[in-house]
Amino acid sequence: MIKVSFVIKLKCSRCSEEYSPEEKVTMCRTPGCKGLGRLDIYYNYDKISKQLSKSKLEQRKPGVWKYKELLPIKDGTRIITLGEGNTPLIKVKRLGEKLGLKNLYVKNEIGNPTGSFKDRPMVIGVTKALEFGVKTTVTASSGNAAASLAAYSAKAGLECYAFVPETAPISKIAQLFLYGAKVARFKGLEKGEDPTVKMLIEASEKYGWYPCPSFGPFNPYQAEGAKTMSYEIIEQFDWNSPDVIFVPVGGGGLLAGNWKGFKEFYELGFVKNLPRIIAVQPEGCAPLIRAFKKGEDPLNISRWERPKTVAGGLSDPYPWDGDAALKSIRESNGGGVAVSDKEILEAQKLLAKYEGIFAEPSGVASLAGLIKMLNENKIDKDETIVVEITGSGFKDIDIVIKQFKLPPAIEPNIKELEKTLFSS
Ligand SMILES: *Cc1c(COP(=O)(O)O)cnc(C)c1O
Repeated sequence: MIKVSFVIKLKCSRCSEEYSPEEKVTMCRTPGCKGLGRLDIYYNYDKISKQLSKSKLEQRKPGVWKYKELLPIKDGTRIITLGEGNTPLIKVKRLGEKLGLKNLYVKNEIGNPTGSFKDRPMVIGVTKALEFGVKTTVTASSGNAAASLAAYSAKAGLECYAFVPETAPISKIAQLFLYGAKVARFKGLEKGEDPTVKMLIEASEKYGWYPCPSFGPFNPYQAEGAKTMSYEIIEQFDWNSPDVIFVPVGGGGLLAGNWKGFKEFYELGFVKNLPRIIAVQPEGCAPLIRAFKKGEDPLNISRWERPKTVAGGLSDPYPWDGDAALKSIRESNGGGVAVSDKEILEAQKLLAKYEGIFAEPSGVASLAGLIKMLNENKIDKDETIVVEITGSGFKDIDIVIKQFKLPPAIEPNIKELEKTLFSS
């Protein structure tokens, strides 16, 4: 598995400067592009289609690396894995019936090694770090991307620094500690400029660390991992795309990566239809939905002033990959919807109660978006719908605990039992 790369070039999304795939580069060097222009990765699809076929893919072992021809890794000998990807696409019949939908599915990303879909981008980012020969990784994250980077850095034997906002839930920070990351918590996210990103820029510059966040302008390789979710969905539908897909959006890398994946399989002739992509954001931080509704220029999306939401994983005041995400929504003829915290928490309960799936608020906002659009009669009930469930409920256990009362401990006898179960 050596020399697998079909990358032809990297090109800045802002100034169009091009870079060779041989260069050890993560950011555009044009002044003014830093942290804004993303080095989009281009592949030679003609060449890939000569090597790759549906039947070849069907014979391979499942997981992210099964799609190696479509990933930006040159040296196949350094590939690492924790068993990411290959997540189930589940027909959710009970929930579908409840909502009046015949063809409702969830792509359940909770079973990834660190409990969120972020393992897909991070396995690529860390493998690339090994290829580049770096020793130290650093990330800015609300928690999940950091946990994932920390886990893969541990696996790869790299040192990892994780920058999180002070609002990151303790359960996410605990995970970081166990993976051996060095953690810094920053104040000031509520002011609308992400302090973790500010420090990511300064620290990676000062110490020469490898920036590895989930969004593209600081390092474009991770977003390529999100594509594999779409490839899997197409294969799981027997080489078809669903009609609509609901995606929770923070920085926008997931959504943009998803769309790129669908388009690539279309380009390769592996699928004949493309889905509409619906972006879902919390009402307390919805810069991308606002940009979509107002018809903003993708390169000038306005920043969200005071983010406040239970969905911490979606609390990016500036969507770093918003340009690509906005173009993806438009190209796919999709849409966007903002949901309240209350709607998110209701969706979280519904998914758990009807389908046995325990998701964190950020990971289930997508479902809240579907329910909202159904209530507004914006969804055709016969369509095939996929809702992405992107993170585990264990990631933010506090938010769940707050909503329930612990029953008192009782003596083990039937009378006490009946009192506790059947009264009130
Ligand atoms: C990061 C994250 C998202 C959003 O992904 P972006 O690429 O930032 O848009 C959604 N759900 C969960 C659970 C996340 O951790």
